[in-house]
Amino acid sequence: MMKKRYIAAIVVLIPLLVLFRFVRELRHDREQTFSVTKVVDGDTAELNGFDMVRLLGIDTPERGEPFYDSARSVLSSLVKGMEVELRFDYRRRDKYGRLLAYLYIDSLLVNAEIVRAGYARIYLFKGSFQNEVELPKLLEAQRIAMKNKIGIWNFGEDDEPYYIANNSTMRFHRPSCGAVQKLSESRKVIFDQRHFAYYDGYSPCRNCKP
Ligand SMILES: [Zn+2]
Repeated sequence: MMKKRYIAAIVVLIPLLVLFRFVRELRHDREQTFSVTKVVDGDTAELNGFDMVRLLGIDTPERGEPFYDSARSVLSSLVKGMEVELRFDYRRRDKYGRLLAYLYIDSLLVNAEIVRAGYARIYLFKGSFQNEVELPKLLEAQRIAMKNKIGIWNFGEDDEPYYIANNSTMRFHRPSCGAVQKLSESRKVIFDQRHFAYYDGYSPCRNCKP
């Protein structure tokens, strides 16, 4: 008899504990603040001396590319030594174990500030397409930077007659790119200037580099 009660208690307790942990994780997602101990580049920083965070929704120049240093110093001036709040989106960590997050200092969205300064462009993954909190802010910041032609937005003339975007990956390509050959008509969006693709939140393919 005792044994049965014992088992019943466990059967009830375990799901409760799991639920409790789950709720705590959710709260944790919204509320925990971190201290930024190091800035690695324009979209990566170290938290609390050990954890890495990759800023979601944006892409900054790689080492050796123009504006690499500028992107890094803007992020540094905003967050280094500061307490930041992290907001997660579709996935908490990437395959390298880095946290994927939107960084906030009070109500300031740091990710959008790098874009606004002209040193990052929007770079989305599927899970972020439906984001209604940060995505509008990123788009607004990018449109301002484009309008002002600052940083990476002071680029040369279009060198293709048109560009082909994929509305399921949010990337755009040169017409000759291999990725375009396999693309179904329903996924295709044609832009006659790169400018319009960026304006709508598309980012350039990393292979054909349009
Ligand atoms: Zn391409």
